[in-house]
Amino acid sequence: MSNKENKTVFNQLLINNHEELIFCSDKKLGLKAIIGIHDTTLGPSMGGTRMWNYDSEEDALKDVLNLSKAMSYKSSLAGLNAGGGKAVLIGDVNLKNKKYIERYADFINDLGGKYWTAQDVNMHTQDILWMKNICPYVIGLPIENGGLGDSSAPTAYGIYTGMKASINYVTGKDSLANKKVCVQGIGNVGSKVVDYLIEEGADIFVSDINQNNLDTISSKNVSIIDVKDMHDTHYDIFSPCALGGIINSKTIKKLDCKIIAGAANNQLEDDVFIPDELKKKNILYVPDFLINAGGIISVYHEQINEIDSRKVMQMTESIYDKALNVFKYANDNNTTTHLAAIKLAKDRIEKNKKNSN
Ligand code: NAD
Repeated sequence: MSNKENKTVFNQLLINNHEELIFCSDKKLGLKAIIGIHDTTLGPSMGGTRMWNYDSEEDALKDVLNLSKAMSYKSSLAGLNAGGGKAVLIGDVNLKNKKYIERYADFINDLGGKYWTAQDVNMHTQDILWMKNICPYVIGLPIENGGLGDSSAPTAYGIYTGMKASINYVTGKDSLANKKVCVQGIGNVGSKVVDYLIEEGADIFVSDINQNNLDTISSKNVSIIDVKDMHDTHYDIFSPCALGGIINSKTIKKLDCKIIAGAANNQLEDDVFIPDELKKKNILYVPDFLINAGGIISVYHEQINEIDSRKVMQMTESIYDKALNVFKYANDNNTTTHLAAIKLAKDRIEKNKKNSN
């Protein structure tokens, strides 16, 4: 297949077996959205809406395809009866107002519950509430509006749980006491991960580009390191809680740690080369879509109308066993933990497809 053919929209859908792509437009409001539905075998597709001023429509399409696929894997591995979806709003955040958001909610309504959305990058609680007024397929609501509230709490708990599983796998003990852990990005999730690590008595290093966040955390028992010096120290655990793509062909040369366990989505630059390099360096990578599932577990419980944060935390805790299962599968099959997690996620989807045929 030629490169040009490879890039047609239909071919891009075929590469990862996407079910649907919905292009939405409203000229007057400047609204351009793409909703990606990857797979609904396990249940309705779920995933947040993000707004971004993409350099090109091609970049937006790539983002929505990658993110919706990752949501299928995340929900499958977490054991949820939910499929994978994601939506992107293309343009400057200043385009956003009540009318714009309500128009976008109309498009989601048209899908009749095949796609459920929540908050993602550049979307705020007010946007979600405007949408919810006219569209039932919105999750991730504040507690006072009948939801389960800030999903960063279960996400952080999942990261901590995954760290415990990985340290157990590497050292034979669950304890994080005195382990050197570097948390990159101490925003909503990272700061809560730090609190768990303080309780455990870990030796904590943090970095952030936001001085306010560093000022806030400075009274705690952590060492603040400059972003550019982050990889100069050996860590037991490196925890990316800032951006995607952070493990790439440049950073991999500098990485000096035993374990990578963090919240950021799409941490790896690619699915094969980078995971292989990590394996060669004997670095245990805890797949991002496995360890950061606390947030989707929370919004899923809203979708099934179980407003019970205790249940959310209980299910999030099962990330511990799921991580051990992925490590074992990777070891038994001489593959990377990243590919092992994808395989296990896909297997559950395929099994359900067969059962429903
Ligand atoms: P956030 O915006 O609150 O925090 C991100 C932090 O990273 C900010 O403090 C920011 O200043 C910092 N940062 C950005 N670039 C940096 C850099 N180069 N070096 C160091 N720090 C940098 O976001 P969050 O809600 O804490 O989420 C963190 C990550 O986890 C994101 O990638 C997000 O997509 C992912 N995630 C979050 C959730 C959730 O429930 N919030 C769920 C799943 C995945």
